Amino acid sequence: MAMFDFSRATEEKYQYKAYNLYNFRKIPQISRLSNQLKFDIEVVGQVFPFKTNNYILNELIDWHKIPNDPIFKLTFPQKQMLLPKHFQRISNLLQLNAEKEEITAAVTEIHAELNPHPAGQMDQNIAILDGERLSGIQHKYRETLLFFPSRGQTCHAYCSFCFRWPQFIGDDAYKFASRETGNLIRYLRRHPEISDVLITGGDPMIMKAKSLLYYLEPLIKTELPGLQNIRIGTKSLSFWPYKYLAGSEADEVLSLFRKIVDSGKHLAIMAHFSHPRELSTKAVRLAIKRIRRTGAEIRTQAPLLHGINDDPAIWARMWRKQVRLGCIPYYMFIMRNTGARHYFSIPLAKTCEIFKQACQQISGLARTVRGPSMSATPGKVQINGVVEIQGKKHFCLTMLQSRNPGLAFNPFFAEFDEQAIWLDELKPAFGKSKFPFQE
Ligand SMILES: *Cc1c(COP(=O)(O)O)cnc(C)c1O
Ligand code: SF4
Repeated sequence: MAMFDFSRATEEKYQYKAYNLYNFRKIPQISRLSNQLKFDIEVVGQVFPFKTNNYILNELIDWHKIPNDPIFKLTFPQKQMLLPKHFQRISNLLQLNAEKEEITAAVTEIHAELNPHPAGQMDQNIAILDGERLSGIQHKYRETLLFFPSRGQTCHAYCSFCFRWPQFIGDDAYKFASRETGNLIRYLRRHPEISDVLITGGDPMIMKAKSLLYYLEPLIKTELPGLQNIRIGTKSLSFWPYKYLAGSEADEVLSLFRKIVDSGKHLAIMAHFSHPRELSTKAVRLAIKRIRRTGAEIRTQAPLLHGINDDPAIWARMWRKQVRLGCIPYYMFIMRNTGARHYFSIPLAKTCEIFKQACQQISGLARTVRGPSMSATPGKVQINGVVEIQGKKHFCLTMLQSRNPGLAFNPFFAEFDEQAIWLDELKPAFGKSKFPFQE
């Protein structure tokens, strides 16, 4: 592996530069896009958040493959992300130079039709302490607590399919997130059954080392008998690996990781990788190496997405690369039922087939991956496969996580449905009226 020249880390290349709806026409490569594509970005970008950066533009996207390049599709708005009627509505308003208020009103209506808060996130996973609802903390599964630090609720770039899209358009991120750790610590003291805290966002690794320390230090300095594992969910290895390479900021982040590991806790970086291309640059490989040297583990996860990674060969290649770099494949997710789902979703039947064929091409070291899994209201539901019983096809399912811990790992069946893309479209098999999680 060629070395990263740390002495040149002040060069422009390593300075984070973001582009969004308002300045994307200044992207150096933008002249490669047709006027039609630029207009599409303008239209779709009104509805879905759009943000990309110089690393993605210069090192990840293959500009010869536009508009079909997977990384381009991962970060740039696509026309088909909007239903034709929605696209038409916004594009008419833009062409008529409508007032800003009129566009905002139309966009707000469209947002409301896109199931902005899937899986009961806003009202069902609330952590309560002494009768008070705690902001920025979700407790859905017994062992694991989610923590949303207020300064980590944005990302280095936005994924076009993201289920957190409402928070990037100012819907609820800051209202919901937490500015302090006092309640987190009190809640953990009261709940010794919690072994894992998952710091999440947005992307917590958007925070400066100083803020990360502010949130994480109490977790390692306080006597918390239950707490064993600290996880950080992040897309930074894909979208901004220089976070771990350039300057004193990188050194401070890595030294914080080391501090957590030295405190006796397990530190798991839950890295989001959607395509093998994201593992191919010098920068990401070196970033992985430096993180692993701190004693942290890197586990990987991503959803299956139409037009980006809907091919077993892509997943097999990605998982093999991950294992070789010392990362542990963890989850394959099913695109959530929100936002541009009609564009990115793959039917469950096809999803199963892609997962199986991908797993058949990898060695046991990569078969640590679990899925394909739906993060639905009752829990994480895995589709194990399609089984023929008495001449009729069925889906075999299990819950990998459940609000009710006693339901996990009990197989159950649903009627086969070639088109279904989410749990709510499935019917219990064998004439039953309910799934186990509905009883
Ligand atoms: C996925 C998830 C977790 C973590 O589940 P693991 O199977 O332990 O990785 C925790 N809380 C919520 C709400 C989740 O969706
Ligand atoms: S990095 Fe994660 S939270 Fe951020 S836009 Fe992508 S999927 Fe959403």
